[in-house]
Amino acid sequence: MSELVALDAVSVHFPAGGGGWFGGPKRVLRAAERVTFSIERGETLALVGESGSGKSTLGNVVAGLQVPTEGTMRFHNRPMDKDTWKAARRAIQIVFQDPFGALDPRMPVSAIIAEPLLIQGSTSAAGRRERAADLIEQVGLPRDALNRYPHEFSGGQRQRIAIARALAPRPELIVADEPLSALDVSIQSQVLNLMKELQEQHGLSYLFISHDLAVVNHLVDRVAVLYLGRLVEIGGREDLFAHPSHPYTQALLNSVPRIGHKRARGQTIKGEMPSPLNPPPGCVFHPRCPKAADICRTEVPALLPTGRGGHDAACHFRE
Ligand code: SF4
Repeated sequence: MSELVALDAVSVHFPAGGGGWFGGPKRVLRAAERVTFSIERGETLALVGESGSGKSTLGNVVAGLQVPTEGTMRFHNRPMDKDTWKAARRAIQIVFQDPFGALDPRMPVSAIIAEPLLIQGSTSAAGRRERAADLIEQVGLPRDALNRYPHEFSGGQRQRIAIARALAPRPELIVADEPLSALDVSIQSQVLNLMKELQEQHGLSYLFISHDLAVVNHLVDRVAVLYLGRLVEIGGREDLFAHPSHPYTQALLNSVPRIGHKRARGQTIKGEMPSPLNPPPGCVFHPRCPKAADICRTEVPALLPTGRGGHDAACHFRE
């Protein structure tokens, strides 16, 4: 496999008030902090973590919807200059969690699917109609769906339409931001299977953002675990699920019995995630970590190899 997209030490900070004459010290929300990972051609990488871990922020960076405060991104091993961005805008598409909010209710499905092609100006009207007709069938909906409007469909059908729209410009990577979490469990597996089929047909890569490790277990090749905007562990799915190295990953897996069955049940996560406005010093997980020692309160652990190929963890006591 070869590298499709890579983030290198990407941070995303948002101003959060303060400063000025009487505003007190400037406050900064650190949504992502020096995150590095790559996505290979044809692979599915999951970004997992609790709400507030920075998953969607990093997904937006990859999709070109969020400019990093620091760090760089590469596409096909090239830095993101004007030409690279132009290519990446076509090649990287995004599917959001809420299929209803993402689809314009005033547009018929044919126009919704063809809109990315219209924006690019690369295809004739007849070509766009043909492509929309082809795509609606690829996502398992009948051709007459093209003349109907989003409110006429179920949640699962709307997510299929959103996927067809994302496929229209023939992308290489789809950023799927919690694409199943608004759907009934019975529908989730259907959409998951569709995503797998489309990946095989088109050689797609996915950046699959999810808080649900059970879902991740069915689709992805590698898993990146985020905590408070930091990448704390990354590795191949099977190895990471069988041998989680970071105490946060261990706790996440212990809360999902269907996956955690290979391990003795251990600690689950206690307490709340601290605010990204005021992250703890040292290892940001230390206030919740059952293994925390003095060094954890002062020294930031680097992301280092665990000794099992391609599996890294950011813990002073990684296993
Ligand atoms: Fe826990 Fe320390 Fe490892 Fe952080 S560095 S995860 S606090 S043991």
